Amino acid sequence: MNDINIAPLTEWGLKPERPVLISGPCSAETEEQVLETARQLKDTQTQVFRAGVWKPRTRPNTFEGIGVEALKWLKTVKQETGLLTTTEVANAQHTYEALKYGVDIIWIGARTTVNPFTMQEIANALEGVDIPVMIKNPINPDVELWCGAFERLSKAGITRLAAIHRGFSSYGETLYRNAPNWQIAIEMKRRKPDLPMICDPSHIGGRASLLKSISQRAMDLNFEGLMIESHINPKEAWSDAKQQITPKEVGEMVNSLTLRRMDPGNNGFLSQLEVLRSEIDRLDNELLTVLDNRMKVVEKIGKCKKDNNVTILQSGRWDKVIEQSTAAAKCRGLSEEFTMKVFSAIHQESINKQTSIMNE
Ligand code: PEP
Ligand code: MN
Repeated sequence: MNDINIAPLTEWGLKPERPVLISGPCSAETEEQVLETARQLKDTQTQVFRAGVWKPRTRPNTFEGIGVEALKWLKTVKQETGLLTTTEVANAQHTYEALKYGVDIIWIGARTTVNPFTMQEIANALEGVDIPVMIKNPINPDVELWCGAFERLSKAGITRLAAIHRGFSSYGETLYRNAPNWQIAIEMKRRKPDLPMICDPSHIGGRASLLKSISQRAMDLNFEGLMIESHINPKEAWSDAKQQITPKEVGEMVNSLTLRRMDPGNNGFLSQLEVLRSEIDRLDNELLTVLDNRMKVVEKIGKCKKDNNVTILQSGRWDKVIEQSTAAAKCRGLSEEFTMKVFSAIHQESINKQTSIMNE
């Protein structure tokens, strides 16, 4: 990343406001929905209007975007409201179409950043084109892959570049749709301090109720911008309904954020304490997810014991758990006393759970 050239956000035609706000629907659905959302967002701090035209969907037979037709609607948004426009491109063909219809900024989605072949294909399509590009983190927490995507576009001559932290995919149910890994965003900033960093709380949280706390965290870590999904009628959205909020709510939420002063001693980016706290929060969240998953298995064991008419407490098993755990903890430098305390509490909760299953 050392040799890549990054132009500041002011060269994107943006006002240097904090946060630089990008908002708009997950997907462009109809001309009316797109235009009305843009008109209402014009009354907020929004500077860039986003809308997905080609949608990467996990399963087929869901709405996969309007396609080229919707690029015309984005053009109308720009003419009518003066907002800059942005859409996701996921291959060379999308890139040519977006350029043809005059989209101001393009973004690369998480499922594209992850694929070096596709990144190269898009970089080739952008060779000699002067357009700002935002690159979302890859779906897996791999800093090198994210850097590689920047390097490919940089080699094609793109200098107006920004990163979007949209969280990382994980197995099983978690609080977040895509858990944030602030450490990785921070590492990107450490490697390239002038790389603008934008947070996408919508895809991190997956739920409207989480948007504010995630946005606040991003502001505390001195991110430059936010990308927030907004729909005039979120419940009726054709994609990502749970995480979209109305333009009015976007305005209110962004206004309610506390913007703290930067710590000038730290690259203008973030204080050591914030970095460490965000790491603790991430780990605590992981800890809770693991405990929750463990209890789900405990419930299955409870049902199994009930069906086979055996007692809950099988003392040989518990001795073995303690023996294994204290040995594993010792290797990691954790004291036996601490490990016993934690596991006793977990064991007690497991017994309580199984008791209630037995007596159901
Ligand atoms: C989106 O922004 O609508 C989107 C599909 O995002 P991601 O690539 O982060 O999943
Ligand atoms: Mn979406």
